[in-house]
Amino acid sequence: MTSANAPYVARDLAHVWHPCTQMKDHEHVPMIPIRRGQGAWLEDYAGQRYLDAISSWWVNLFGHANPRINAAVRAQLESLEQVILAGFTHEPVIALSEALTAVAPPGLTRCFYADNGSSAVEIAVKMSFHYWRNAGRTQKRRFITLANSYHGETLGALAVGNVELYKQIYKPLLMDVITVPSPDCFERAGGESCADHSRRKFAAMEAALAAHAHEACAVIVEPLVQCAGGMRMYDPVYLTLLRAACDRHQVHLIADEIAVGFGRTGTLFACEQAGIRPDFLCLSKGLTGGYLPLSTVMTTDEVYAAFYDEYAKLSAFLHSHSFTGNPLGCAAALASLAIFREDRTLEANRALAAHMGARARELEDHAHVAEVRQRGMIVAIELVRNKATREPYPWQERRGLTIYRHALTRGVLLRPIGNVVYFMPPYVITPAEIDLMAEVAREGIELATCA
Ligand SMILES: *Cc1c(COP(=O)(O)O)cnc(C)c1O
Repeated sequence: MTSANAPYVARDLAHVWHPCTQMKDHEHVPMIPIRRGQGAWLEDYAGQRYLDAISSWWVNLFGHANPRINAAVRAQLESLEQVILAGFTHEPVIALSEALTAVAPPGLTRCFYADNGSSAVEIAVKMSFHYWRNAGRTQKRRFITLANSYHGETLGALAVGNVELYKQIYKPLLMDVITVPSPDCFERAGGESCADHSRRKFAAMEAALAAHAHEACAVIVEPLVQCAGGMRMYDPVYLTLLRAACDRHQVHLIADEIAVGFGRTGTLFACEQAGIRPDFLCLSKGLTGGYLPLSTVMTTDEVYAAFYDEYAKLSAFLHSHSFTGNPLGCAAALASLAIFREDRTLEANRALAAHMGARARELEDHAHVAEVRQRGMIVAIELVRNKATREPYPWQERRGLTIYRHALTRGVLLRPIGNVVYFMPPYVITPAEIDLMAEVAREGIELATCA
């Protein structure tokens, strides 16, 4: 039986090279052409619907084809689709910068724009290096990063990240960084609290700062959740200690909230839970409600001032991207921030998060579930071969793929990272849809771990 999807799949596979994919897999893994999206659902050309449990790669916040964001983008489209942001400006980028400054940790008053997350990380890295250079600290040219961190795929972002699968091949091209063990609470000893574990792990960071502060520009972290590293979580106390230590050692702190920003961890920004203000805050993904490619690096007046001088001093930050601060993206971002305010989203999410966590924790007793963990609207279920020793399943077995394929047949888009099944749904998901997502995950886990 040929499905209505078939012609699109054939045309696709003739010319499209997909991201993060071994294309040969599509000899047996179905390619799914999506015709439309509505709320938390995607629909293919054969009419099959899929609950988007991963927010289309962590970007979507308020559902697909959201009427309010649609209206804002449509209205913007009628007046201005794009304009150069050097020498020129536009109302949406002005309003967005005001709005972000109002909701971000106090003191982050300057917004530098780009059009994707990796570029935001590149900007933060270059800006930090350049700040120290402008300050006469030319020794400072290295970065401190956490094991198992992820900051994007461009060469600078890849260098400061630490997921071997993405990084290994390109090592000869990458700058050398200082890597410190992660505070990841999955690695805590039996009986130890997550906070104690994260606090204990800080000793390695303190030592790295003491040894390298003279040559280090910044520490870069994903606050609270290392998402691409398998939704590994750590305690806010680590960030509080890190902020104090960075101040003490005169090293910048870059918070990459590209994935965890905009309510994913329960607060608008994850840094809030530690009561800290980073020197650079990288935002993208949910920034536009997941609608359009846009990113920003927020920083302080102090950093801004270090670049502000006579042109001939050549201290300006001359970085740019063609679509920097695109008006359509800014309009979507403003509409998304308006929804947060008008619908009191963060409050409403508490009930959803509680329900999602409760349904996921029903799997805690499963013979191959090592841990169910949660931070706000992110829930992860870690599968292991041996629950007692936490011996993982070998990656070659691709058990997550079994779960992915099963979920598709049941109308749910789950996309495990290795042996970690996770939920990161749009905030418009209903309790009944959460039940479906959890039920399908349970079935998939049964299927993937039975042999
Ligand atoms: C996705 C992600 C990035 C990269 O963003 P892109 O828009 O995919 O380039 C960087 N950092 C974190 C934490 C991310 O999750």
